Amino acid sequence: MGRNEFTVAFAGNPNVGKSTVFNNLTGLNQHTGNWSGKTVSNAFGCMSYKNITYTLVDLPGTYSLLSGSKEEAVARDYLCFQSPDMVVAVVDATCIERNLNLVLQILEITSRVIVCVNLLDEAQKKSISVDLKELSRRLGVPVVGSSARSGRGMSELKEMIYNMTVNERKTYVDKIIYSPEIEEEAEKIFEKIRQKCKSDRIARFLSLRLLENDEEFNKSLEKSIGISVEAGVHKKEYKDMIAEEIIKTAERIFLSAVSFKNSEYNKRDRKIDRILTSKSTGIPIMLLLFGVIFWITIVGANYPSQWLSSLFESVNQFVRDTLTNIGTDNMLVSVICDGILKTTFWVISVMLPPMAIFFPLFTILEDFGYLPRIAFNLDKYFKRSGTHGKQALTMCMGFGCNACGVTGCRIIDSPKERLIAIITNALVPCNGRFPSLITLISIFFSASLVFPFNSILSALLLLSVIVLSVFATLGLSKLLSSTVLKSERSSFTLELPPYRAPQIGRVIVHSVKDRIIFVLWRAVAVAVPAGLIIWLLANIYIGDSSLLNYFTSSIDGFARIFGLDGVILAAFILGFPANEIVMPIMIMAYTSNSSLMEYDSLTQLHALFTTNGWTVVTAICVLIFFLFHFPCSTTCITIYKETKSIKWTMLAFILPTILGLTACFLISNISRLIFMLAG
Ligand code: GDP
Repeated sequence: MGRNEFTVAFAGNPNVGKSTVFNNLTGLNQHTGNWSGKTVSNAFGCMSYKNITYTLVDLPGTYSLLSGSKEEAVARDYLCFQSPDMVVAVVDATCIERNLNLVLQILEITSRVIVCVNLLDEAQKKSISVDLKELSRRLGVPVVGSSARSGRGMSELKEMIYNMTVNERKTYVDKIIYSPEIEEEAEKIFEKIRQKCKSDRIARFLSLRLLENDEEFNKSLEKSIGISVEAGVHKKEYKDMIAEEIIKTAERIFLSAVSFKNSEYNKRDRKIDRILTSKSTGIPIMLLLFGVIFWITIVGANYPSQWLSSLFESVNQFVRDTLTNIGTDNMLVSVICDGILKTTFWVISVMLPPMAIFFPLFTILEDFGYLPRIAFNLDKYFKRSGTHGKQALTMCMGFGCNACGVTGCRIIDSPKERLIAIITNALVPCNGRFPSLITLISIFFSASLVFPFNSILSALLLLSVIVLSVFATLGLSKLLSSTVLKSERSSFTLELPPYRAPQIGRVIVHSVKDRIIFVLWRAVAVAVPAGLIIWLLANIYIGDSSLLNYFTSSIDGFARIFGLDGVILAAFILGFPANEIVMPIMIMAYTSNSSLMEYDSLTQLHALFTTNGWTVVTAICVLIFFLFHFPCSTTCITIYKETKSIKWTMLAFILPTILGLTACFLISNISRLIFMLAG
C-alpha cells in the first residue's frame, strides 16, 4: 500500500445527514476552509483508523453534478480536478430514487465510491425497505446502511473506507446508457480532451458536460484546464436528453432495490403538504405562522431588553465612576462612556433579545422542512416575475443577514435568475433592521393600546412590512427580468423533502453558534469604532456647530423633499457599515448632550423624535427607508464577490435606494397635500 494518508470526499443531496455522518467520523473535529481558488467553503476533518490518516472533505450538498448551480460546480470540479482517493456518497433511505441521480453521476467520474444509505430509521418508520446487497450489486460498489443520528452503521462505514484504501475496486455494473447520438458526440469531444484529464472516466464525464452547452461550465473548464468550448457540437436538447437517461437508470435501480411494505408510506407527509401547500390554505398559514413568530419575538424581547438596558446602564455608570475616580480626563471618559460603550450597549440590548427568540423559532421551521414549502407556495409568483422559485429560499436567508442571502443565491442555476435574486435580496429586512422596525412600530403605532393588543398590532404591522418587502422583491424582479436581465426561464422541479421532527438541542446550538454570535459579533465590531467616530463628529466643533451638525444641516433640505430630515439621512449614510447603528446615530445626533439617552424608555424615545419634528408621516417614511435603501457594506462586498462586477454591485446599491426615496417622496407629498386640502 505504501501511503498512509488518504483523502475521502463526502457528497450527497442537501439534508441527507451528510454533516451528521461527517461529524460522527471526525468527532466534530471539523473546521471550514477554502480550497484552491474557490470561494465556497468546505468542511475539512480528520479521521484516524488502523494507522491510516484520512482527510475528510465535506462537499456542498447538491442534487446533481450537471452544469448548473455554483454548488454543483464546486462539487463537480473538486471530484474531477482534485481527485480524492475515494468518495462517500450519502443518500437518504426515504428518497433513494432522487438521490441515485447524484450517485450515478459520481460513478461516472470514479469507481472508488462507497454509498452510505442514511436515515434508515426514518425509512423503517415509513415501511420502506432497502435491499442494500442488491443496491451494491447493481452499482458495483460497497453499500452501507446507517442511522447517523444514533451512530448506527458508522463503524461499518469506517471499515469499508479502510477496505477500499487497501483494495482496488471493480467498475460498476448498471451504468447509464446514453442514446447513440449523445455517445457519438461525446466520443468526438473525448478524443480532443483526453490528454488534459486525469483519467478516461473524467474525460468522458466532462465530454458529456460539454455537450450540455452551459455557458458558465464551458468558461470554467477553459479556465481550469484550458479545454476549449469549440471541442464539439453542442445542442440545448442534449442537456435534457442526458438528464433523462440518468433519471431512467436511477429509476431502474431503485425499483429493483427498494420496496414499500406500505404503499401509503408518505401518507402523513402528503396530508401535511395538502394543508401547508394548498392553494387556499398555503399562503394564509404561512402568514399566520410568521405573524405568530413575530408576535412571540416582540412580546418576548421586551423584558430581557429592559433588563439588559438597566444592567448596561449600571455597568456604564460604574465604568464612568471608576474612570473619574482614577483621575481620567473628562473628555476621555465621555469618549468611552458616551461614545463607545453607549452605542455598543444599545446595539446589544436592542438586538440580542429579538435575535435570541426569532432565530431559534425560524430554525425550527427550517429543521421541520418548512422552508421548501414556502418556496413552493411562492413559486408561481416568482415565475410570473420571470424568476426562480428558489429565490423565495434566498429571501428567507436574507431575513437573517442579507450577505448570507446573497451567498445563498448560488443555489439558483441560471446566471441571470441568480443575478436578479442577488440584486433584490436587500429588499427583505435583515436582522440588523428588524429591531429598529419593531421599535418604530411600537413607539409610533401601537403604544396607545394596552397589552396584548399593542403587541398584536405591532406583529401585524411588522408582518405587513414583510409582505410589502416581498411585493417589492417580486416587482423589481419582474422589472429586471423583462429589461436588463431578460433570459430564457430555466425549468425547475421543486424538491419537497420529507418532514422531520426538529431537534431542539441542535436548533439552539445552531442558532446560537452560527447566527446569534456571528451577527452580534459583527454588530459590536462595527458599533465600537462607529461609536467613537460618531462621538468625535458630534464633539468636534468648528465655530458654534459640531461636524455632525454641519453634515446634517448641509443635507437637511434634500432630505426634507423625501419626508426625512438631515439627521435621519446622515444616520443612514454613516450607518453604511451596519444597519444596526442607524438608530443610535439618529439618537446621538438629536440629543443635545451628544450622547445616547436612557435605553429603557420607549416613551422617552418617542418624545425625543417628536420634539425634533417627527410626525407619524415621518415615522412611516423612516420605516420605508429602513426597508428600502442601499445594502450595508458587508452585503455590498459580498455582492461584488459573487458577481465580480462593479456594474451589478452598483445596481444592487442604487435600485433599493431609488425605490425607497421614491416611496418616501410620494408618501410625504401626498400626505402634505391631504393635510392642505383638509385645511
Ligand atoms: P446535510 O444537509 O446532508 O449535511 O444534513 P444534516 O447532517 O445537517 O442533517 C439533516 C437533518 O437530518 C438533521 O436534523 C439531522 O439531525 C437529521 N439526521 C441526520 N441523520 C439522521 C438519521 O440517521 N436519522 C434521523 N432520524 N435523522 C437524521
